[in-house]
Amino acid sequence: MQTRRAFLCRTAAAGVAALSGVSRVLAARYDLVIVGGRVIDPASRLDRVMDVAIQGGRIAAVQPGIAVSDADAILDATGRLVVPGLIDIHTHTRVKAMPSICLSDGVTSLVDGGSQGADRIEEIIEVAKSAPNRVRVLLNVARTGITRPEGEFMDISRAHVTLAQQAIERHRDMIIGVKARLSRAVAGANDLEVVRRAQAMVAPFNLPVMVHVGDTVSPLQDILELLKPGDIVTHVYAPPPHSIFDDKGQLLPEVTAARRRGVWFDIGHGRIAHITWSMAERALAQGFPPDTISSDWSVAGSTDQVFNFPNVLSKFLLLGMPLEQVIACGSANAAHVFPAFSDRGTLRVGNPADIAVLELRDGSFEFVDNENTVRTGREKLVASEVVVGGKWVSGRS
Ligand SMILES: [Zn+2]
Repeated sequence: MQTRRAFLCRTAAAGVAALSGVSRVLAARYDLVIVGGRVIDPASRLDRVMDVAIQGGRIAAVQPGIAVSDADAILDATGRLVVPGLIDIHTHTRVKAMPSICLSDGVTSLVDGGSQGADRIEEIIEVAKSAPNRVRVLLNVARTGITRPEGEFMDISRAHVTLAQQAIERHRDMIIGVKARLSRAVAGANDLEVVRRAQAMVAPFNLPVMVHVGDTVSPLQDILELLKPGDIVTHVYAPPPHSIFDDKGQLLPEVTAARRRGVWFDIGHGRIAHITWSMAERALAQGFPPDTISSDWSVAGSTDQVFNFPNVLSKFLLLGMPLEQVIACGSANAAHVFPAFSDRGTLRVGNPADIAVLELRDGSFEFVDNENTVRTGREKLVASEVVVGGKWVSGRS
């Protein structure tokens, strides 16, 4: 790392110290300049080799040829991508180290997707508040949070509206919605009642509901009918029964209609029955890409199928999605879903400086879906450097 500070030290040693009054005049205009990278900022429709300057934790300039002599530190991103800090809207933040691990993968904002409910939400809030990145929380509609082996909604009394509302009240700054797993093994025949109660919980707060679909007792159409604009369907490419396709493999008109009225469709990759290559391929072929790509990251997923967020994004390159769209699904679009991230997901001047510097590696890379079917891709995204709130931290590579 070549720094302006080091340069000043050298000149001082050379006897310029007497001009100390001048140092204020020469003070760096920028804390950091990322030079020479391919800047992709989907929200600004930008894809060009440029420099990005950061000052006081915010993006100060995005343009070619920023004078590096004006910088305290220089990050040479030549040959790499400079993109908005990644936003992963479905993860599980049960362990304290998790946000930092994800930060090294370029994830500067993330959402815990309902790991805990009203009874123990403070456990997640504590992790979120001590995180180096921006972590926000979806409250599980079940007061118990996720339970296994018996799913949390097998006893519908766990979907306790008043307790959930009290939890939201306690943490208005951190809870940005509620989450309900609706699969047969989790909710049984209670799935629709769970969604009704979820809507009752969030109504006074004007917050979204995220529903986890796939292998539900009720048809997807019935679930979609209970969703309002701004709500999120996660595991959109879950295999049947009750997938987004009819028996003939055609996209359900109700799914398209839900998107049209403002329901978001998210990936939620995870490990078990949430996504297959064939479901994803069919959806893309029928013009139904995801709005957001998310990892459903967990400790187990960090060594199996998911690994890390850029790895999940890379799978969509393999599926033929354009790079800019993949980046948008992991940044700009995600920022659109939750107002808590409305000033993130873009490199616009004035916004908080959350930036991921990614390598787009060429080679032969194996990826698997939830059926462990291996496919080989020729490109892979890897986080090499990350800037969060203007602070430069190293990436995974
Ligand atoms: Zn999940």
